[in-house]
Amino acid sequence: MKIDFDHASPIGFVNTMKLAIILVATSASLLLSAQAAPPRPETTSAALPNLGDGADITTSAERRIGDRIARELYRDADYLDDAVMMEYVQGIWQPLLTAARLRGDLPPELDEAFAWEILVGRDRSVNAFALPGAYFGLHLGLVGVVASRDELASVLAHELSHVTQRHIARKMTQQNQQTPWLLGAIILGVLAASKSPNAANAMIMGGQAVGAQAQLNFSRDMEREADRVGFAVASQAGFAPDGFVSMFDKLQQSSRLNDSGNFPYLRSHPLSSERMADMQSRIELPDVQQPDKLGVRKNVQEADQAMMAARARVLSNFTADALRNWAVDADVAQTSRMTATQKAGTLYGATLAAIKLRDYKEAQALWMRLSDGVRSDEAASRLARLLGVELQLAQNDGVAALRLLQSDRRTAEKLSRAELFYVAQARLQLGSKEAMASITQNLQAWVAEHPRDAQAWHWLASAYEAESRTLSAIRARAEINVAQLDYPGALSRFKTAQDWARNGGAGTDHYEASIVDTRTRQVESLVREQALER
Ligand SMILES: [Zn+2]
Repeated sequence: MKIDFDHASPIGFVNTMKLAIILVATSASLLLSAQAAPPRPETTSAALPNLGDGADITTSAERRIGDRIARELYRDADYLDDAVMMEYVQGIWQPLLTAARLRGDLPPELDEAFAWEILVGRDRSVNAFALPGAYFGLHLGLVGVVASRDELASVLAHELSHVTQRHIARKMTQQNQQTPWLLGAIILGVLAASKSPNAANAMIMGGQAVGAQAQLNFSRDMEREADRVGFAVASQAGFAPDGFVSMFDKLQQSSRLNDSGNFPYLRSHPLSSERMADMQSRIELPDVQQPDKLGVRKNVQEADQAMMAARARVLSNFTADALRNWAVDADVAQTSRMTATQKAGTLYGATLAAIKLRDYKEAQALWMRLSDGVRSDEAASRLARLLGVELQLAQNDGVAALRLLQSDRRTAEKLSRAELFYVAQARLQLGSKEAMASITQNLQAWVAEHPRDAQAWHWLASAYEAESRTLSAIRARAEINVAQLDYPGALSRFKTAQDWARNGGAGTDHYEASIVDTRTRQVESLVREQALER
């Protein structure tokens, strides 16, 4: 299996992602009608209840349902592990997780039991959502419209809190008392059906989806709780509290200007004036940490933020027309009227768009203007350098790419994930075994710390192949399947590796062969566990 980390597709993630979230509800409503159980009336108490205390489905059951959904999402053509984008998203997500742990919202058992993983989808709609087992979906459309990290943090903190408060478990338990496994099976069944080109099938599913939305929505009490806890988590993490309000504002404005179909987040999170007022009053509470007093960043758009929003817009809108429009916006006459921040975003987007159009001369000219403009801003100039590396790699110039990457190394500090992958690509372009040796070690160290990083395994496999280390390469490719929860796929690769070693494949490494045996047994038992779940 080849993982394509940079592949445009007009369909896919949208459908699967929306489907996945709808499915929990669809299947629940099917079960509901079968059991003729009445929906539970919403509580209307004015006090803010703590909703997470009930006896819900077990965390391990919820996790396994989430794993099933995630496994399908990893396979989706619109699933995107863009290392630069992920660095930005993780830069917001990890502080939120840390804050939730510190506050006690995320107890160690739940931390351990769930995935806490964000899957980014190349989808232009403005959406983010929580799935069972603490998988989260984030559409690039949302990243493309936020004006500050604080705004994105507000949405993610809200979704995070739906899970820490066990709202998903509660929804599932309410509607599906006895048979969480049936739920998982139905989700899988409908996911499979969604891949069918049969139009009639799609119609039926569409009909179910409409009815499902109402079932899926969290109760108003749950929404209020996610706002309240999310607000506290984001504030503790150092994000400006008014990110919540400006995000609400932005969604409301955008929804008036745009087709609401692009704003699924709004459909599931109606912006009631009550929610807005609630947030506004919270900001004025004396116990809210005021970031400016603490010297923490304020809710303002910074150049690096504008650049990442531009990246999200380019990566989620691949039509030639959309890509060409960037050049129009980046015209000197246009940019001279912009703020420095707007200009950085526009030039970044235009450079990336020119790379995607393979107009490297234009890209180089735009990139020079970008680099000049952000010279005094450390975070922004680092992003500009990484974009320059991307431009060189697109032209197969590994030497120039490495030169740029080295100019970024002030000290011998550890490579970031994005840098690590870029160095791997650059060295692969150089194509010599000697060039690979050092990066192979770096990648090995990385996967030892991050065994579920599928992209790291991908580059490691490519590096092994360049070094003619066949057995290691097959194993690394098997680990990609494991990381993406495809255990049968992994097992078949591990067996191939075992066969290769037994038949005395050239230069068989016995240490590596024994690792393969161990991993084969481990994955065999994972396959058996998965089979029992059905
Ligand atoms: Zn919500």
